[in-house]
Amino acid sequence: MALVVQKYGGTSVKDAERVMNVARRVTNTYKEGNSVVVAVSAQGDTTDDLIEKAKEINPDASKREMDQLLSSGEQISIALLAMAIEKLGYPVISFTGWQAGVLTDSKHSAARIKRIDTERIQTELDRKRIVIVAGFQGINKYDDITTLGRGGSDTSAVALAAALHADLCEIYTDVDGVYTTDPRICKTAYKLNDISYDEMLELASLGANVLHNRSVEMAKKYNVKLSVRSSLNDHEGTYVKEVSKVEKMLVRGVTRDNDCARIALCGVEDAPGKAFQIFEMIARKGISVDLIIQSIGDGKTKDISFTVTEGDLQKTLDLLEENKEFINAREIKSTSDVSKVSIVGAGMVNNSGVAAKMFEALYDAHININMIATSEIKISVLVARKDAEAAVIAIHDKFLLK
Ligand code: ASP
Ligand code: MG
Repeated sequence: MALVVQKYGGTSVKDAERVMNVARRVTNTYKEGNSVVVAVSAQGDTTDDLIEKAKEINPDASKREMDQLLSSGEQISIALLAMAIEKLGYPVISFTGWQAGVLTDSKHSAARIKRIDTERIQTELDRKRIVIVAGFQGINKYDDITTLGRGGSDTSAVALAAALHADLCEIYTDVDGVYTTDPRICKTAYKLNDISYDEMLELASLGANVLHNRSVEMAKKYNVKLSVRSSLNDHEGTYVKEVSKVEKMLVRGVTRDNDCARIALCGVEDAPGKAFQIFEMIARKGISVDLIIQSIGDGKTKDISFTVTEGDLQKTLDLLEENKEFINAREIKSTSDVSKVSIVGAGMVNNSGVAAKMFEALYDAHININMIATSEIKISVLVARKDAEAAVIAIHDKFLLK
């Protein structure tokens, strides 16, 4: 007998038929003799629809009230799923975040789970009930409802698995698992059988929309064995765990992120401390800078280019404009017609050939590289947005063609 936490995403519970499908899956796991805790998301597009409703009334609504509103989506799902399980004749109880003891900090709309008081869930498991918990939500020390940020139900599930010392946490979604790259872009993409936490973390933060970033961080920290699989078939999913099987293949995935923009400061004074001062000023505004390059300079001036998210572009340009005297650049240029394409794989650092091979793939596809950044586990390049999909395909097929 094992304790299994399952999470079902919005598409998996989008209508009555899908809710019944999930109820059957949950009860099948229960019938095999397991204790089952289920975290669910809001049905289909409910969260987006609620955001629209709020905007009609007040586009600047407070985050507290947004949390009050958005958390209602998950409350609908838990009740409906519990009713479906009752109908199949199994013992079940549903809990909102606070009933389940999910305690968070007070950062509305982006709260972090501090701990879960599992007593009530544990009592119900001991009574042999299936426990359904609303994902994405918790409660802060003032008894106010909080939410964990978009896609946060994954994190709810992993936190429950960690707190309950579950044997397995299964994330059910509408794809078969984690792919080598987005199958909508690249026809030759395929599902990975397993992947390490670190690799998954990079893939998640580089724009592979499979798992909420923080859920992977938490799974790594508490060593929760995760599996990502489809709620619509019985295919084996992808296991996310400490060490992935050592395969010859170094590169595990290719991602594309369109949410970036490039800013170039041309002809900045070539003096020590200049870059520090500029980037500190940007950091103080809470803007994260991703890729950075600086030209060698000729002793008098140099060029510094960097990327920010598209959403932060205007804010960054305004800041640079306000401080243009101090920055004293000959010209400030920007574009959002760029995308970041990255490869991820543990052990790259020891393999000098990997970067060269990636650049060769781009060269063969006649794609120009604007910027490059490398780390122990990933290499990212910035390319023109129109070239991004072709870049993904070229790089994928260079490294990962089966
Ligand atoms: N319903 C929330 C959202 O759509 C949380 C989740 O689905 O994980 O972002
Ligand atoms: Mg959702």
